[in-house]
Amino acid sequence: MFELSCTPGLLPARRSAPRPDPKLPPCPLCGATALESAYRFAEDISHDCDCLLREEEGYYRGLRRLWRGRVCLEQFLASVPRRYRGFTLEGYVREPANAEALAAAQGLRPGEFLYLYGLPGRGKTHLAVAAARRLAEQGHKALFLGEAEYLEALYRSIRGQGEAPDYRSVEVVVLDDAGKIKPTDFAYQTLYALLEHFSSEGKTLLVTSNYPPLQLARRLAGGEAEAAAAIASRLTQGYVLEVGGRDLRAAQGSLPPPGG
Ligand SMILES: [Zn+2]
Repeated sequence: MFELSCTPGLLPARRSAPRPDPKLPPCPLCGATALESAYRFAEDISHDCDCLLREEEGYYRGLRRLWRGRVCLEQFLASVPRRYRGFTLEGYVREPANAEALAAAQGLRPGEFLYLYGLPGRGKTHLAVAAARRLAEQGHKALFLGEAEYLEALYRSIRGQGEAPDYRSVEVVVLDDAGKIKPTDFAYQTLYALLEHFSSEGKTLLVTSNYPPLQLARRLAGGEAEAAAAIASRLTQGYVLEVGGRDLRAAQGSLPPPGG
């Protein structure tokens, strides 16, 4: 029991009709907006329609699929550096020099590899993050690994300082800026193990690099031809595309001042 307060502001909230909450998954059958509610599971969500009554099984199946996509997207974005989190396919500016790469990113299916290379600032990371985001929204577990940060996290975990991200439990990985760090045996072995895992398990790997794949492979292998060939064959097993066009970072930096 609780006492009613005389202060109007502290009265228990009146039970009014729940308001729509467009941030929750819509009805999977008719698209009706979800109703505001406290929720922990997909089954807690309700919609202002009769689909649950008319087609319970299909309704819950669809709702669980949408829910899974929502959870996967949240988990993926939590691994993405803040400055990349807003990257979507819709937000990518298409140009003749990046049209092919954009089309590959838009059409990428689970289990395929995408290797994007080109000069810095052309939007490689944007495309890779956006493509992985789309797969996460479809319910595939995805993870972002910046090469340098990932290797650093591995070194730290070896020293007992924290845990490195584990790609074995996910279906999609973005390996960003491959080849940036100075190659070592450890880097080679680590990246080879990752490539081999994604290749043999039929998972999705999206790699961005300033280097074309053969050059990256040679760089990682430190001049060992056989090791370079092993890396290169895995890097090139899917789509390999150069991302050209304007330097987006420079373009942003060179905007004229307001009124100028
Ligand atoms: Zn409905």
